[in-house]
Amino acid sequence: MSFASLGLSEEIVRAVTERGYTEPTPIQAQAIPVILKGGDLMGGAQTGTGKTAGFTLPLLQRLMEKPVSGKHFIRALVLTPTRELAAQVEESVRLYGKHLPLKSMMMFGGVNINPQIKQLHGRVDILVATPGRLLDHLQQKTVDLSHVEILVLDEADRMLDMGFIRDIKKILAVLPKQRQNLLFSATFSDEIKLLADGLLTNPALIEVARRNQANELIEQRVYPVDRERKRELLTHLIKEHNWFQVLVFTRTKHGANRLAEQLDKDGIPAMAIHGNKSQAARTRALAEFKTGKLQVLVATDIAARGIDISELPHVVNFELPNVPEDYVHRIGRTGRAGSEGEASSLVCIDEKKLLNDIERLIKREIPVVNVPGFDVDPRIKAEPILNGSNRGGGQRQGQGRGGQPRTGGGQGRSAPRPGAAKPAGGAGRGAAPSGAQHRSGGRGR
Ligand code: AMP
Repeated sequence: MSFASLGLSEEIVRAVTERGYTEPTPIQAQAIPVILKGGDLMGGAQTGTGKTAGFTLPLLQRLMEKPVSGKHFIRALVLTPTRELAAQVEESVRLYGKHLPLKSMMMFGGVNINPQIKQLHGRVDILVATPGRLLDHLQQKTVDLSHVEILVLDEADRMLDMGFIRDIKKILAVLPKQRQNLLFSATFSDEIKLLADGLLTNPALIEVARRNQANELIEQRVYPVDRERKRELLTHLIKEHNWFQVLVFTRTKHGANRLAEQLDKDGIPAMAIHGNKSQAARTRALAEFKTGKLQVLVATDIAARGIDISELPHVVNFELPNVPEDYVHRIGRTGRAGSEGEASSLVCIDEKKLLNDIERLIKREIPVVNVPGFDVDPRIKAEPILNGSNRGGGQRQGQGRGGQPRTGGGQGRSAPRPGAAKPAGGAGRGAAPSGAQHRSGGRGR
């Protein structure tokens, strides 16, 4: 199937071809015709499926089909949970719309509002924003959303997790009633369904398989190691295999900082990326990582969410996540869009249960690799994983996010069932709305 056969214009197909895409991904093949017809859509897809182009391409085309004369207004609004995602989506809008006369703008918090106000005085057809800062503009009356024709809520589940529901509702209240609504979410909790019920009219329901569960291109490995020797092993692996563009996950911001510093001392250029860092520092780290200048990026789950780094060769779980679904999200950073990737997990005795939960979720055993010289010391006993420990440990083992008791492998976040025609019913998120760490990670205010 070709992009042209989906009904996209020559200018858009040309931009996509220049980007190097030859065929639409499954979400694109399904979503593009629906959106072009003008209908509402509920899309079950996470980052890595090609969903951004899935809504951006038809959105651009819809705007082009109805050109406006005279004063320009914002005609499409894309809301994203994080600054990084806003920047990436807006970059995609510019890329795919490069042969079109449309203008886009990204808007997020953590940066001076005045340049944004100035940009809003000029032409903006498509606004990509995080809810917090957009609300600030609405309150200051520096943005006019009264001509929005298309609304996209991207990673809606994450927006709810981050406590944006009130902001979103306030934004919805100022939009014209008559508009096209597109909602994308990796999971379908009751909260999401409630939001969708109030927002969407006769939506088409499209789901694609969680590609990273089905993705055989990701080589997963478990490296058993003593808890105090993880950094040493990581340095060894990176140097031994000459790994570049390594995304390393830790549980906490503190752990991310510490590890980045230690790797740097070991002669491996590394930086931590998380919500406590300034926007400028995060942008710089990401840019240097993408070009390969920065060998290692250390991130917490929330900071990494939404970062689109295509064809990332290595993901390392320095510590396993407490929530097994986060493992799937993490390794989804690698082996994207048809390229191979490696996901390595450094697992100490404390994390045995977490590993079991993950293997139960992904329904396979992850091959174990013992590295000579890093044999596990059988005398070391398992310890609970403590909050903010020196080792960068996260929440106490046995608890989900937000301090809710964990209820076992099967009751984490519900994921869309691959191939199902409807959003999965009933099973909401096991974990309560996230706590402080979650919020600070890229909240757009
Ligand atoms: P997304 O899910 O939108 O974050 O996209 C995931 C990755 O897939 C991005 O790096 C895109 O550049 C890439 N991508 C999107 N559509 C296609 C396509 N049709 N063919 C190949 N790669 C694609």
